[in-house]
Amino acid sequence: MSDARRPPEVDRAAASRRAVAARRERAALKRDVTTRVISPQELLRRALADPSSAAGAMRVTEFLTAIPAVGESKRDRILADLGISPVKRLGGLGSRQRDALRTFLDSRWPEPQPRSGRSRLLVLAGPTAVGKGTVAAHIKDHHPDILLSVSATTRSPRPGEVDGEHYYFVDDAEFDRLIRDGELLEHATVHNKYRYGTPKAPITAALEHGRTVLLEIDLQGARQVRAAAPDANLVFLLPPSWDELVDRLVGRGTEDAEERARRLRTARVELASQGEFDHHVVNDDVARAAEEVAALAR
Ligand code: 5GP
Repeated sequence: MSDARRPPEVDRAAASRRAVAARRERAALKRDVTTRVISPQELLRRALADPSSAAGAMRVTEFLTAIPAVGESKRDRILADLGISPVKRLGGLGSRQRDALRTFLDSRWPEPQPRSGRSRLLVLAGPTAVGKGTVAAHIKDHHPDILLSVSATTRSPRPGEVDGEHYYFVDDAEFDRLIRDGELLEHATVHNKYRYGTPKAPITAALEHGRTVLLEIDLQGARQVRAAAPDANLVFLLPPSWDELVDRLVGRGTEDAEERARRLRTARVELASQGEFDHHVVNDDVARAAEEVAALAR
């Protein structure tokens, strides 16, 4: 290229910065699919809605291998079956190819469909550090009509926590008694440490009075509620992205490195369970997410 046609130095530097940023954004999106923060269908929807976006610029090959359980040979077979060239980008797929890819994804990794006929019992669960507690506290402050269940726990109160308001702080013997007497709707040992459980009586009374009840509990608890009350509304709180979840976990700074690594492993497993839930709410903004959750029982 002659000097006259070469882009000025500053333009080239800016273009290369843009390319790096775009690559990073694509890598983050792939990680979100791999860690199941978003479904493959959601990534495809974003790509088709805006072909010039990071999702739109992603090659079909990269997209497919981001899906857990799809390796390179499986990917090549899928592309051959669907009649899609490996050099295609998601945003550049023709309408027949889009339909074929969508149908294939739906058949292999069906997205959960919201169920109807649910009760006023709302269960809010989600991965570690996603912000369940903050969203639940926001609902408590802004929706006095909704009862936020107070759990029993064997852990000690943190500074500022009030017995009977944040938790019922009990010892192991009392927790055993609550289980023995059938007073808990569900109970679980969380993070391999302390026991937590939901007292049954206040919930039954509130539901009988037509109130909405919100439980902010862990995944094991949510599964037990599903078994005990199959019409409960199970809500899964999602981080806006995997990177955001990692930031929140590290940013909190309350755990050491080993504990953080363990919680991240747990978070991956927890994210993989989102298909069991009736609703998915993204915690991109606490007030917005809280309103979306509160509206679900109406
Ligand atoms: P924390 O000790 O930080 O307040 O809560 C730790 C975890 O325990 C959170 O993930 C919270 O959702 C969960 N948790 C709180 N109460 C209950 C409960 O009654 N049952 C279950 N299964 N989990 C709970």
